[in-house]
Amino acid sequence: MQGSFFFKGNFPVFYSMTKQKKIYSIQTKDSFLEQKKNELLSAAYEGHHQAVEQIYHDILRYSETNSKFTENTEKLLNQIQTIIKRFYPNFEKHSSPKIRGCHIRLKTIILNSIKQSSGSIHHVDFQTWGTKLGLDHLQKDLVYKTAMTFQLSSGCSNFCRRCNEWALPKVRSHFSYTAILKILSHMADQGNDEISLYGASDPLDWIENKKDITDILDCLKEIPIEYSILTKVPKGKIPLLKKLLKINANLSVSITSKNKARIKKIEEELENPISKQHDLDELLIPAGLDEDFVSIKPSVTDGYGTEITPDGAFIIIPTFTSALHPFGHKKIRITSKTNFFPIKKTGRKALLVDYFKPIEGYDLYNNRNYLDGLLDVQIESIILDNGTDELTPPGMRSLKEYLSIFEEKPRLQRKKIGRHLNLCKKADCLSSKLSAVSFFLKSISGYTQKNPVKIKMIQFLLKDEMKNISHAYSDLIGNNSIEALLINSNINSFDIFRFYVFCLLNKSKVQAILEFITTYPSAYDPVSDIFVQSSPSD
Ligand code: SF4
Repeated sequence: MQGSFFFKGNFPVFYSMTKQKKIYSIQTKDSFLEQKKNELLSAAYEGHHQAVEQIYHDILRYSETNSKFTENTEKLLNQIQTIIKRFYPNFEKHSSPKIRGCHIRLKTIILNSIKQSSGSIHHVDFQTWGTKLGLDHLQKDLVYKTAMTFQLSSGCSNFCRRCNEWALPKVRSHFSYTAILKILSHMADQGNDEISLYGASDPLDWIENKKDITDILDCLKEIPIEYSILTKVPKGKIPLLKKLLKINANLSVSITSKNKARIKKIEEELENPISKQHDLDELLIPAGLDEDFVSIKPSVTDGYGTEITPDGAFIIIPTFTSALHPFGHKKIRITSKTNFFPIKKTGRKALLVDYFKPIEGYDLYNNRNYLDGLLDVQIESIILDNGTDELTPPGMRSLKEYLSIFEEKPRLQRKKIGRHLNLCKKADCLSSKLSAVSFFLKSISGYTQKNPVKIKMIQFLLKDEMKNISHAYSDLIGNNSIEALLINSNINSFDIFRFYVFCLLNKSKVQAILEFITTYPSAYDPVSDIFVQSSPSD
């Protein structure tokens, strides 16, 4: 494969396959507060109270000196407060006075911020939003082209606590009416044909003077883009809901235990069914502020693409929902340095994306290319993916399933029907399997060297599986080579892979793993859509 990949700081960078080599980058470095949230969790997992106190104090000082919070900063502060309540449930009574003091002070700071920003709700106009973004027109066009979520407001009047987006309580700002129409028109001009008009806000909250969401939908008749609206119907918005139903808006109501009775009443009044989502007890799962920070749950984000909010624009990469990513996705702020935009894939198309392969996206000139390496957030998903059905929604391929395609039975079936010729011959199949495992282990090995705090968190989240795999495989693995174990059809390759992932996390057998990676240098070949041997210099 032509081209090569390396890490520069936190940037996975890619040399394109053209003669004039160009570097693409997506900056994924965590913000100060995100780093602190992770440090806090890691210390809490270890029961290291003094460290918790110190980190919490650092967070408090940061908040005191930065009292005008962005939407994401306030979301992180809410997560941090939830973490403290989760791990120190009795701090009010008898735990550390320092933690109690920090908690009270931070609570006051957050409340003041809510009061201040919700007391003067402002409208963000197109120019202000664009200037703050600081993107050139090529970058902006790609934001429009790949946008999947257009969040019209910041903050939510409903604040139902069922929110995986950790929406902020009370509306703080709206896009202006003209900004919304301009942005929607730009999306349509870029060939974007569908957009969700929500995010961490309820679209029924949007207003400007006498205008409401129906005025936007009215103009949307002239703009060639499909929209969708998901609402929980905030209090006082029933007349607006009726208005929307009357004009046959493309709307679904998301059901919670709180709004269920109200919605049922309206349905009876209207004698027409309302399109509903999440109307099942099992979907009324704890979300948002009920996050437990100790378990790994499936992703709740069903798309790759960009998100536009009054605060900026972000690349969204789905993740498992866990302490590492309580939103179920990673938000990567788009800045003037961003020159690679993942191709928009939503719904079924997003389910078909193998999250463990390098991401396909556009460069600034609209050429489609692949990153040669995995983003940190993808590597985290590989490490957290324990292969259970509970973690993998129907239609999505887990890494366990992917590794199973190299087994003998599927290979013989493919041979019979002539599908995926590269994986029909036994030797090619084994070689591709070794290349895939080598690629993943190399990515994880690089990740472990740069992310000591997150490694501690991951070790905590995976402690039970680690114990089980070590118990089941330590003897069998003995002095066998990784290669011998992976090509032995009597041994479950996924379990072997997990064993060596845990070795990397625990810094054991590292030499054997590095030798394996060096012996089987590998790269992802987008043309054949498999991992292949690459030359060691690549
Ligand atoms: S789920 Fe919807 S209504 Fe509930 S807090 Fe989040 S944005 Fe608001």
